[in-house]
Amino acid sequence: PSMNNDLSVSNLVKKFGDFTAVDNVTFAVPQGSFFSILGPSGCGKTTLLRMIAGFEEPTSGNIMIRGKDMAGVGPNLRPVNLVFQHLALFPMMNVEENIAFGLRRRKVDSATIKKKIEAILERVGLPDYAKHQIGQLSGGQKQRVAIARSLVLEPSVLLLDEPLGALDLKLREQMKVELKKLQAKVGTTFVYITHDQSEALVMSDRVVVMNQGRFEQLGTPQELYGQPLTPFVAQFVGDNNLWSGEITEMSGADAIIRTDEGFIFRSRVQGEVTVGRRADLFLRPETLRIQPEDKEGLNIFNVTVKTILFDGANSRLLTVTPEDHELLVALPQNRRFDYIQPGQTIEVGWHPEAGVCF
Ligand code: ADP
Ligand code: MG
Repeated sequence: PSMNNDLSVSNLVKKFGDFTAVDNVTFAVPQGSFFSILGPSGCGKTTLLRMIAGFEEPTSGNIMIRGKDMAGVGPNLRPVNLVFQHLALFPMMNVEENIAFGLRRRKVDSATIKKKIEAILERVGLPDYAKHQIGQLSGGQKQRVAIARSLVLEPSVLLLDEPLGALDLKLREQMKVELKKLQAKVGTTFVYITHDQSEALVMSDRVVVMNQGRFEQLGTPQELYGQPLTPFVAQFVGDNNLWSGEITEMSGADAIIRTDEGFIFRSRVQGEVTVGRRADLFLRPETLRIQPEDKEGLNIFNVTVKTILFDGANSRLLTVTPEDHELLVALPQNRRFDYIQPGQTIEVGWHPEAGVCF
């Protein structure tokens, strides 16, 4: 393992009886980076994090933090800290006392504690809040206190278990930007778990998508979004339109697929390709061009607009093919589509490179 990895995990397995919660995962997190583990509820994220923190004994496999094997090292002796969704702040203590708690346990002297608290409150953007009671704080401020309380202990790795899960949507949107900025500023390695793909995409340097205890794909947010390697990733990360069908022939590197509705499309393929087998075709809403002028090389067909899903810059059309297959089509920002009305039939096209066929 490279010395530049704060955390490296190899072949980690956790079984509860016959059930395998974490199934042979391997990954490394470079120093100072923001790493997210993204997956649906129950896929094993918390179990994985608890093993890293030392609260759960691995069935097999290996965890190294800053190059040191963690086997047999108790949770309080690991250079990590865990931030929970429910924050676990002490409501009867003020901000300062909450942050001082871990330092006191480590027998740090009062003068040093005072200095450290001042510095960390400055860093998380709460410089004048030392004496505030927890109950007087907003949700976002509590969040920052919880993170300050962990960061003040200067962990090698900060582990965050869905820390924004309890916040309302608007605040979550705000906090994900703040957390990313904070991580960049303090430079501590973050391992962040979430079931929210947008959080993972926005904040992370690298993301791993987890499903039923296994890792499906590890990459940058751009790679996961642009080149999903499995149908699960294509469906879980970002929005995608899906067609099912059969591969009828190969044409160069592309597949010709006949969808169950009878469309014949040409598409890029991922993985093993056999003529005659069933296939799923995924297509991002923003890759569909509305009434393209240049149709050269495009897959072209007609859809009828069911409704306009207005959402500012993320506005889309919910459309339907004559065979009643629903399709989301993004409305580009650089053109006016005022004339598009529900009930109208429009021509759409997409380039074979934009699709991915599994
Ligand atoms: P996530 O955090 O991704 O929602 P968890 O790691 O909490 O998932 O759980 C993964 C799976 O392991 C779930 O099916 C859960 O029921 C199971 N599990 C977690 N902890 C235990 C345990 N202590 N005993 C038995 N099963 C557990
Ligand atoms: Mg969990």
